Amino acid sequence: MRDHLSGGIFTESEESADCFQLAVALKNILQQRGVTFRFNTTVRQLAADSNRKVSVQTTAGEHLTPDHIVVALACESTALLKPLGIAVPVSPLKGYSLTVPIERAADAPMVSITDYERKVVYARLGERLRIAGMADMVGLNRRIDTSRIEALKQEARNLFPDAGNYDLATLWTGLRPATPKGKPIIDGTRYGNLWLNIGQGALGFTLAPGSASVISHLLRGQALPFGKNVFTLADA
Ligand SMILES: Cc1cc2nc3c(=O)[nH]c(=O)nc-3n(C[C@H](O)[C@H](O)[C@H](O)COP(=O)(O)OP(=O)(O)OC[C@H]3O[C@@H](n4cnc5c(N)ncnc54)[C@H](O)[C@@H]3O)c2cc1C
Repeated sequence: MRDHLSGGIFTESEESADCFQLAVALKNILQQRGVTFRFNTTVRQLAADSNRKVSVQTTAGEHLTPDHIVVALACESTALLKPLGIAVPVSPLKGYSLTVPIERAADAPMVSITDYERKVVYARLGERLRIAGMADMVGLNRRIDTSRIEALKQEARNLFPDAGNYDLATLWTGLRPATPKGKPIIDGTRYGNLWLNIGQGALGFTLAPGSASVISHLLRGQALPFGKNVFTLADA
């Protein structure tokens, strides 16, 4: 690989983590603290009353009017918010990842690597190597396109041919909720109990704690630590 490189930037402070494990651990802690999760329940509709108070209707037949609703449904937010007259400019950028069991540890990267030229990232997750890339504009289509997977595998094979058996890769596809300026939308709305936390694009895991901090400050009516909110819908 050395022959193909002209240089790189090493960020010593960078870390990688398994977002699924973190989400499960967080869920367990929150459940212990009394939070109720409604899994396998879809929000069918948001509706406002004459006092601009928004209610949530779910597929479980519930009709809830909570003190606060934070819409954080990524690309699906657009359709749900439209009937309330809120237009969020969020577009799906479809990407793929492969997670490969590492067979030869010395031939797999130890640190997270971003190949800027080819827009592919490599992250070591313990005994596994995760390779992610592609940005396809195909709407809300979540089907795995095998030709895109093969292209990603080929990139990985070129760079780390002996790291693992790419034929054993676990395949995944997801939609990055992209905004025009690449900034998330974390904002209130004209409805007193309705908030937005959408559009973290290619960095939703990285930006999750910061976004949560911003939305919790806004919800409580507290000043943001960095001053003016730069994540408004108006400036998206
Ligand atoms: C290939 C790839 C690699 C990536 N790598 C990284 C990375 O290394 N680091 C990083 O920080 N980010 C990464 N990202 C980006 C990250 O995945 C997204 O930014 C993040 O998932 C956005 O989080 P979200 O919660 O807003 O949306 P999502 O993760 O899309 O979650 C939205 C949730 O809302 C649910 N939902 C939708 N509609 C409804 C409804 N009507 N009722 C109830 N629930 C509903 C969905 O089921 C889903 O669970 C990557 C993305 C891709 C595609």
